[in-house]
Amino acid sequence: MHGRARDPARPDELFFGPFRRMVRAAMVAPREGAQWTGITTRIAERLLETGAVDAVLTMTADPADRWRPVPVLVTRASDMAACRGMRMGYAPLLALLEPALAAGHKRVAIIGIPCQVYALRALEAELGFERLYVIGTPCSDNTTTERFHEFLALLTNAPETVTYLEFLPDFHVEMRFTDGRVKRIPFLRLPISKLPGDFFPLTCRTCVDYTNVLADITVGYMAGRGAQWLLVRNARGEELLSLLGDEVVLSKLSSAGKRHSSVAGYLQNVELAAGGLPVRSMPNWLRPVMAFLMPRVGPRGLEFARTRVEMKAVETVLHLRARHPRRMRNMVPPHVWALAEAYGLRAKEGEK
Ligand SMILES: Cc1cc2nc3c(=O)[nH]c(=O)nc-3n(C[C@H](O)[C@H](O)[C@H](O)COP(=O)(O)OP(=O)(O)OC[C@H]3O[C@@H](n4cnc5c(N)ncnc54)[C@H](O)[C@@H]3O)c2cc1C
Repeated sequence: MHGRARDPARPDELFFGPFRRMVRAAMVAPREGAQWTGITTRIAERLLETGAVDAVLTMTADPADRWRPVPVLVTRASDMAACRGMRMGYAPLLALLEPALAAGHKRVAIIGIPCQVYALRALEAELGFERLYVIGTPCSDNTTTERFHEFLALLTNAPETVTYLEFLPDFHVEMRFTDGRVKRIPFLRLPISKLPGDFFPLTCRTCVDYTNVLADITVGYMAGRGAQWLLVRNARGEELLSLLGDEVVLSKLSSAGKRHSSVAGYLQNVELAAGGLPVRSMPNWLRPVMAFLMPRVGPRGLEFARTRVEMKAVETVLHLRARHPRRMRNMVPPHVWALAEAYGLRAKEGEK
């Protein structure tokens, strides 16, 4: 898609895939209902407004459940507002590709998470669109909407009033409620140990494309230190970003802290979990101390994004090894081994 593979001379491409440039970004006027500032849906609106595309394929919310994603083909810019925000769940986004073609849409944009974009790229040539723009978001893990409701019920006794949830890069979960309240919970205080072992499916736990490497532009937040994080991957990605003009403010990314001990500690816990053993939990007295320290001394900015990508690499190797060892040879690409090897996880015979 980008005319080249990851460039070893640009070390961050090992983590995030090929990119022309990475920037910190925010909409000057953040959009109501957006997950962050609404860069993703605004780019799609601009594509429709300028006539660059006939339709945008993305997710909206089920009218009966704000958390349930439903695929939708949007043809009017004003209808993009209803698609803003993150929903947890799976929905067959690409099932609308053929209806889009049948309706005569030749120039199309798609907003998708990595597994959707991966499948899209495999189909792209045979679909024969005149123009296809791909706006990707990163995705760490997904689960069924039902399971997500169970998670919300562990966090609050009024789960039906939650309108927003995000895992922030400052090691907190932010929740917003219908009455305007905002609640922040340190990661270390999340009831993760109460979640069933299969809360996140094996497909997510062994995903090697956290940052949506095949998108033209990836719109995330991990390296953004409170703002958004854009990875412009090719010329089409530049074209997409330019549609925002001065509606978006761009600034330089930064990096602080060290990731090694966070990833190494995570690896130990995943090893226990993948082997079916109880995860070692931190003593209760230490939790508030760590919850205070992590946003201040833990990995931040680009270093936080690298941390998360390495955690996924480690998770992939350990879970596949435990559950489907014979698949490793085909499912773990070389750059993932390179990330995992920094933590002593080396390929065994037949795994590479
Ligand atoms: C399950 C999931 C996990 C994510 N994990 C991360 C992460 O770990 N790190 C990170 O940087 N970013 C992650 N994201 C992306 C992040 O939540 C924001 O969507 C992104 O940063 C864009 O913000 P925005 O304000 O520009 O989006 P908005 O303008 O609000 O647009 C969000 C877009 O995402 C689409 N969308 C919402 N839910 C889904 C879904 N279930 N499947 C497919 N598309 C959907 C919407 O239809 C909309 O087009 C995740 C997204 C999802 C759906």
